[in-house]
This record gives sequence, structure tokens and C-alpha cells, in this order.
Amino acid sequence: MLYVRKYGGTSLGDGEKIRAAARRAAELHRQGHRVVLVVSAQGHTTDEMIRKAREINRRGSLREMDAYLSTGEQISAALMAMALGALGQQAVSLTGIQAGIHTDGIHGNAEILTIDPARIRRELESGRIVVVAGFQGVDPEGDVTTLGRGGSDTTAVALAAALAADRCQIFTDVDGVYDRDPRLYPDARRFDRIGYDRMLALVENGAQVLHHRSVTLARDRGIEVEVLSAFSEGGGTIVGRE
Ligand code: ADP
Ligand code: ASP
Ligand code: MG
Repeated sequence: MLYVRKYGGTSLGDGEKIRAAARRAAELHRQGHRVVLVVSAQGHTTDEMIRKAREINRRGSLREMDAYLSTGEQISAALMAMALGALGQQAVSLTGIQAGIHTDGIHGNAEILTIDPARIRRELESGRIVVVAGFQGVDPEGDVTTLGRGGSDTTAVALAAALAADRCQIFTDVDGVYDRDPRLYPDARRFDRIGYDRMLALVENGAQVLHHRSVTLARDRGIEVEVLSAFSEGGGTIVGRE
């Protein structure tokens, strides 16, 4: 089977967390599966980068912000490939451009238009785990774009569609989708399964657990998305048809 697995920032917050995700991916590969990992910038990197940029220019150009912010994900991707290498697992990190992710030119909130998955396919065929930097692509000018805050989820769903993946898994710091933010409401209830439209309603009410566009894309392409904990096995929510 082909797995696309995305890890969010908190789930990659330190070296041990990166190694833990790498171990799970290498194990999956050993079982005979092909694995694409999509990674976000570590911890609060993106917030800190935005703060630093604003110190320099309160209204810096969106093009330069994309050039800058996309590096957070690139760091995670290279570190993840190194963590896999340390386990004896062949792996390669790819930026959005290298992964063939083509977007429109709306810097800071770009939309994925097409994906050319040839490079990823080639790397998978040669037995590597492919680690893709989330949240980014390339516009018709050849410039780096970013997909909007939380956009790595959309990278994962778009890649799952382009590669016709068997599983699309979003690993995060909670063990699924709840009816309310489980960090704020300890009595929140987890869904085993939730329909796309109900999920969209949650997102529109501020549940940042999935990027809005990742849900509409999943719905439009008929991709089932599993939301799982990066820190514990089991549980999870399937976002799919009602
Ligand atoms: P990641 O870094 O993995 O992308 P996010 O911070 O974007 O993670 O999303 C996960 C967070 O979403 C959780 O820590 C949780 O506090 C929050 N959240 C808000 N609403 C919900 C909800 N209804 N179900 C699950 N998590 C939610
Ligand atoms: N690092 C980006 C952000 O913080 C993208 C993501 O996490 O998905 O918004
Ligand atoms: Mg997120």
C-alpha cells in the first residue's frame, strides 16, 4: 500500500519526536509499504519567523515572506530524511518545487493547481521514503509560494490524490477530531468518523485541526483522511463521506 503521512509542528517539536515519527515510517516501509511523509515546520517556528520578519519590515512583500517561511518546512524535511538515514532507511527530502507541486501566484495563500508526481514516484520506486516539505509550491513565475497557515494538511491531501495513495494520515497532537477543541473542553467527544461537510463546519467555526482547503479537496477528490495522534497508537477519526 502507499501511505501519505503528515506530521504537524508540535509532533516534530524536538529531535526525539522526529526520530519517533521516522521509526514508525521505517517500520511501515519494512512491512512492504511505500511511504511519503509530509512535514510542517517544527514547533512554533512559523510564528517566530513571522515575528522576526515583522521586526525588519512590518509590511514585507508576500513574495519574500513565502521565500522565507517555506524554509521552516524544508528544515523539517531534511532532518526527517536524516533521522530515517540514521535508522538505515533510504530516504530523500524534497521541497515543494522538487515534489512537483504547482500553485497559482497568490503569495501567502496559494492554491495547488497541479502536481507532477514523477519525481516522487521515481524515488519511491527506488525504495526510498520520500519526505516532502509541506505548505509550499511553485507558481508560474518559478517563485516559491505558501498555502496559508496550516497548509501542510492540504499538501498531504493533494499528494494523496495525485499519487492515488491508499491511505492519507494526518498525525497531530490530539488523537482525532472532537466536537469541540479537546484542549479547551475536557468533556469534548471524539468522532470515530465524520462527514466532510460536518468537518468543514467545525473548521469554519475555528477548529484548526485540519486546513480548510484540505477538507474541500478531500471531499472533491473522494479522499478519506485519518486524523491520528503522533504520540500514541490507536484511536483516531476518519474524515470521509457522511
Ligand atoms: P498541527 O501542528 O499538527 O497541524 P494544529 O495545531 O494545526 O496541529 O491542530 C491541532 C490542534 O487543533 C489541537 O491541538 C487542538 O487544540 C485543536 N483543535 C481545535 N478544535 C479541534 C477539534 N474540534 N478537534 C480536534 N482538535 C481541535
Ligand atoms: N508551518 C505552517 C504554519 O504554521 C504550515 C503548517 O503548519 O501546516 O502555518
Ligand atoms: Mg495544523
